[in-house]
Amino acid sequence: MTKDQVIARDAQYYMPVFARYKVVLSHGAGPYVYDVDGKRYLDFLAGIAVNILGHAHPKLVAAVSAQAGKLIHCSNLYYTAEQAQLAQTLAEVSGLGKVFVANSGAEANEGAIKLARKYGKTIHPEKIEIITAEHSFHGRTLATLTATAQPKYQHGYEPLPGGFRYVEYNNIDALEAMMSEKTCAVMLEPIQGEGGVNIPADDYLHKVRQLCDKYGALLILDEIQSGMGRTGKMFAFQHGNVKPDIVTVAKGLGGGVPIGAFMATDQVAKVFSPGDHGTTFGGNPLACAAANTVLSVLAAENLPANAEAVGSYMVNGLNALKAKYPALISEVRGKGLMIGVKLTKPGREIVDSCLAAGALINCTNTDVLRFVPPLNITNQHADEMLAILDRVLAETE
Ligand SMILES: *Cc1c(COP(=O)(O)O)cnc(C)c1O
Repeated sequence: MTKDQVIARDAQYYMPVFARYKVVLSHGAGPYVYDVDGKRYLDFLAGIAVNILGHAHPKLVAAVSAQAGKLIHCSNLYYTAEQAQLAQTLAEVSGLGKVFVANSGAEANEGAIKLARKYGKTIHPEKIEIITAEHSFHGRTLATLTATAQPKYQHGYEPLPGGFRYVEYNNIDALEAMMSEKTCAVMLEPIQGEGGVNIPADDYLHKVRQLCDKYGALLILDEIQSGMGRTGKMFAFQHGNVKPDIVTVAKGLGGGVPIGAFMATDQVAKVFSPGDHGTTFGGNPLACAAANTVLSVLAAENLPANAEAVGSYMVNGLNALKAKYPALISEVRGKGLMIGVKLTKPGREIVDSCLAAGALINCTNTDVLRFVPPLNITNQHADEMLAILDRVLAETE
């Protein structure tokens, strides 16, 4: 099928919910993907922070292929070594005691919300309020889009589930004013991804933790985008001295194989009994084998440290572009390889020009270019991205 045929077929048969770029991808290798016409693109979006080992990583391909030939799926009515292994590793790297494996980020957050509600009610029947932040993104199910404090995602889906309240991000006084004994949990991204790569003050999460302790509320950290080594540590909360009660992950966890998970302290997780939560596909041996391989490569190749090193190199380069194009770039912000470039105007045109020039990035919150590449890239790949962006910005000016 040609590119035009694929696009025409999609237009006829696929639900029109995606504003897609006009490219039909076929395969990939490392940080590059190729379209059906053989054109190569440097992939600095990585499936939105998903392909953290790049494309077609030999160890991930081998692990998934071997597992597919052994056992793709069995019900959670049975044990598998792959799932037990993943639970242990996620508990160890997060410092939390118990793990539940789901299929996506939204499902991980949905489970975390259910667990927090159930826990809150063990303290008081009215301890059900969950506070989330403006410009957050937590997913597309009814509960998680209600947690997502952005009207554009909620519009049209009312009535929304109750019990959610929204507070300005990175504003500790506003949070304190909203909290009470009714607060069941505060749910935050340590760095907001979809909201525009917003990085709070260094002590923000620590102060949120103190407020949660004061009101007996749980701290739920959504690390779906910021986790898995992206910011230079396994989890973004590990940059500070903060201990969450619940952490959610997905995106990079399976290196592209759909999987999500939430982890909680033993104390919180013990409010769950058999039948309280579940999933058919979640934690199946295929997805767990992928995640186990991703986690082992992440550790063996020290990818969080690489993300930090290449990320700061990239931020330096982007700041040089900001100095060169002050009329176009107003701010560069990032931690590790989670980087946003705030523009002075909407970014879609620049993203389209990068695509034409052979690089995949995207634009979030209208005017923030987002770079979330694989974590095993080198400075040379960063240079290649910076050179493309330089050319595109020169033409845009
Ligand atoms: C992507 C994302 C989600 C939703 O994940 P899905 O797998 O798309 O359901 C939730 N929270 C954050 C922070 C995300 O970046």
